[in-house]
This record gives sequence, structure tokens and C-alpha cells, in this order.
Amino acid sequence: MWRFVFYLSTFLALTGCVATDPDNPECKTEAPDVYEPVNVEDDWYNVTYVEPRTYIIEEPSSSQGNVSYLILGTERAVMFDTGAGENNPVTDTKMKYLIDQITDLPVTLLLSHFHFDHNQNIQEFDHVAFIELEYLVNGTSPEGIYTFTEEQLVEGNFPESVEVDEWWTPQTSIDLGDRTIEIWSIPGHADESAMIVDYENKLLFMGDFIYNGPMFVFGEQNVPVYIASTDVITSSFDSSYTLYGAHGLPEVDFDDLFGLRDVLVCIDENTCTASMFNLFGYVVYAYSLNGMEVWVLT
Ligand SMILES: [Zn+2]
Repeated sequence: MWRFVFYLSTFLALTGCVATDPDNPECKTEAPDVYEPVNVEDDWYNVTYVEPRTYIIEEPSSSQGNVSYLILGTERAVMFDTGAGENNPVTDTKMKYLIDQITDLPVTLLLSHFHFDHNQNIQEFDHVAFIELEYLVNGTSPEGIYTFTEEQLVEGNFPESVEVDEWWTPQTSIDLGDRTIEIWSIPGHADESAMIVDYENKLLFMGDFIYNGPMFVFGEQNVPVYIASTDVITSSFDSSYTLYGAHGLPEVDFDDLFGLRDVLVCIDENTCTASMFNLFGYVVYAYSLNGMEVWVLT
């Protein structure tokens, strides 16, 4: 035993390296793992890489101006939304072919919410996670099949259903390998609206909760719900975070959350006037305040 301790201390004296101290530079024998971003040129998608290991996937020619996100760790990746499915298939897929060019990691799909313009390529992804909300769990068959409602899709009847492989509990760490995320439930735009939080890199992926463009509320009863979620986000994070939305210009100013809240409060308190028009068979009440627009669809 003492001989072992002697040998160990001699080894440490020579190397200065303690195995449990990975930050000790003398312990490092390999160069640090530097990620080389993949450059993808595509006729439909506009792919932009941002640190760390994040791809912004825009569809500028889509009628919806979609933006989806691919978030990579070292062991697994998360695809946040699958777009409106309006492009022509390439190698029999409309979106997965693109993701396959970027990563070999196992990809889990998480929908920001279930509206038709975020899930049209869902069948190309064989591993799907849902935010663990009680009514979604209860609405899933024993075989793990969740059937979308017309109301959730807003328009059309596709996708009809999806197999849920994983349930992600809100505000619980999900390890992607050298990168941890959480998902938060942020109802308002949709009941199932989910936000991805990356604390270490100070990123918030917002879905349709906020983006650059008019925000949609489906029914006035959701206005107070939307306000409550806005308050949770603004009291939990600050302007050091970068926000990414799901339509239009990807990056959203954190302070726009306060602007959004102002319009929502104005609607809730009946102190704003609206202009009216029809869209997708809905009557839309459009409210505008300080450059921020909210459309209430009824
Ligand atoms: Zn939406």
C-alpha cells in the first residue's frame, strides 16, 4: 500500500497531473475538440451557423417565412420545428436531407407547437419528443400515438398523428452532450407552446411566442394566459439572452417582450382600438402599439 502511494506521488510530481482535475493544462494530451461548422448551400433553405453548434434554418420562399433550428450537442441533436413543407422533395425528403448534411448525431424532433406551418415534415423524423403536459400525455394512446386536433393544426388536416418517443418534463435538464437545454411551457400563442432554454449560452428559442412580425392570439381568452407567460419569461431571463423566433428575421430583441406585453395588456383592458379583417376563415382584430402588433383571431 505504502509503496503504491509512493509511486503515485512520484507520478504526480513528475506530471503535475491529477486525474480528477481536467482543467489542469498538464493533464491535457489532446487538442481541444473544436467544432467545424458545416456550410450548406441549398435552393430552398437558407442555413446560417451561429455559436455554439446551432444552425438557423430559414425558408425565405415559404409563404410562412419559417425559421427552424438545429441545436447540436456532442451526442445528440434537437430539431426545433420542421417547417411548412412547401418545398419540393430532394432525395425523397423535404427537410431531413438537409439535416443529414449537417450532422450524423441522433436527432430528436421537438415542435415549438402544433400549428400546420411548423410540423409539415414531421414524418421524416423518426424520434419525436413532446413537452410533458398532462393533457398531452392523457391524449396519447397506450401505443404512444398522439392525434392532432383540427384546432391545434389551425389549417388543414396534416399531420394526422405522430408517435411520441420521449416526454420532456418542463424545466428539467436535457443533456445533449457538452450542452444542456431545458424546455419551458409558455402558453399564449398555443396551449402547448414550448420554449428551449440554453442557460450556458444564453439562448432562448421562442417558437411563435415572439418573432419579428405580428403575433397571433387564437381567441381573446388566451390574452391573459399570454401576459402571464410573458411575465414568467421577463422575470426569469434578461437582455443578455439572445432570442430566436420562428418566422421572419430570426433574432428577436429581448425588450420586444415588454412591447408585446404592453399590447396584450391594452387588449385585455380594452383600451386599444382594433382594425378588422378576415384571414383563414377567422375574423382578425389587429392591435398595434409602439410598433408591436398583435392579431387576435376569433
Ligand atoms: Zn403558430
